[in-house]
Amino acid sequence: MSNENTHHGRCFCGAVEVTVSGEPAGMGYCHCDSCRHWSASPVNAFTLWRPEAVRVTRGPEHVGTFNRTPHSFRKWCTACGGHLFTEHPGLGLVDVYAATIPQFPFRPGLHVNYQETKLRMQDGLPKMKDMPREMGGSGITLPE
Ligand SMILES: [Zn+2]
Ligand SMILES: [Zn+2]
Repeated sequence: MSNENTHHGRCFCGAVEVTVSGEPAGMGYCHCDSCRHWSASPVNAFTLWRPEAVRVTRGPEHVGTFNRTPHSFRKWCTACGGHLFTEHPGLGLVDVYAATIPQFPFRPGLHVNYQETKLRMQDGLPKMKDMPREMGGSGITLPE
């Protein structure tokens, strides 16, 4: 595992540290109600990784988990409440929030669940109504 391809991240207080290695499977912005409600922000900047690419390297005993549905297991630091990542077992991917890994070069490729948006973003990237077809969605794009 090469060091230049490994990026370090941490929770808000630093009790929990994570690393991601290699290249993500996708990057973008999610506008869905669940992401907005969970993150208390108008949009979630995500990076998606294969589970083996994500490692908790410090403070695993501080990692809390909550799942409202079987699709998303949300992880945060129980010491500070800072969010870390969300496991999506059905997709076989882990969403490490871009804000958790600030050194990682975030290059968004698309917006998903744009039909639920509360913050329109005119950046020229594709706006998927829900999800891409290869991820079980309709594949329909919407105007910005
Ligand atoms: Zn913390
Ligand atoms: Zn979402």
